[in-house]
Amino acid sequence: MFKVRTLGDPVLKEKTRPVKKITPEIKALIQEMAKTMYEQKGVGLAANQIGVIDRLAVIDPGNDFKVLINPEIIWKNKKKIVEEEGCLSLPSVTVKVPRWEKIKVRYQDENGKTVVLAAEGLLARIIQHELDHLDGCLIIDRATEEEKKQAIEALNAYLLRTEFSPAHSHLK
Ligand SMILES: [Zn+2]
Repeated sequence: MFKVRTLGDPVLKEKTRPVKKITPEIKALIQEMAKTMYEQKGVGLAANQIGVIDRLAVIDPGNDFKVLINPEIIWKNKKKIVEEEGCLSLPSVTVKVPRWEKIKVRYQDENGKTVVLAAEGLLARIIQHELDHLDGCLIIDRATEEEKKQAIEALNAYLLRTEFSPAHSHLK
């Protein structure tokens, strides 16, 4: 199981590199990412969140698992919707993030097939969130200064409670 990297880890700020070929290593990576996402009860996970700078993400808004390799938004309606978002790399943090309401995204699936997917609502939001990760952008980078400050305080409080608390050791 991979450890999900959290805020402060420089790999989260890295722009990922296009996947040229779907090798057995990439397939194994996809398996591990899926496992990690479900284990952490996330709805999406980008490769750099586990320290790999390949341009790929896995998502599942609910019984709909997808692998997005080299995803690219090729169309969006000109309307943004603001909603609260969380992120596995920022445990205990939620911030309001504006996202395009409807998008079309082009990507390769795990078999290398090119797919164009029209998405709206939660699915469109998750895809934009993961694409941001692949470009080294986190939800707090899209928040106001005040929200960003609060988010970092919430994250630090969470990390103090969990990683450094002796009470946590017997919970594992
Ligand atoms: Zn995230």
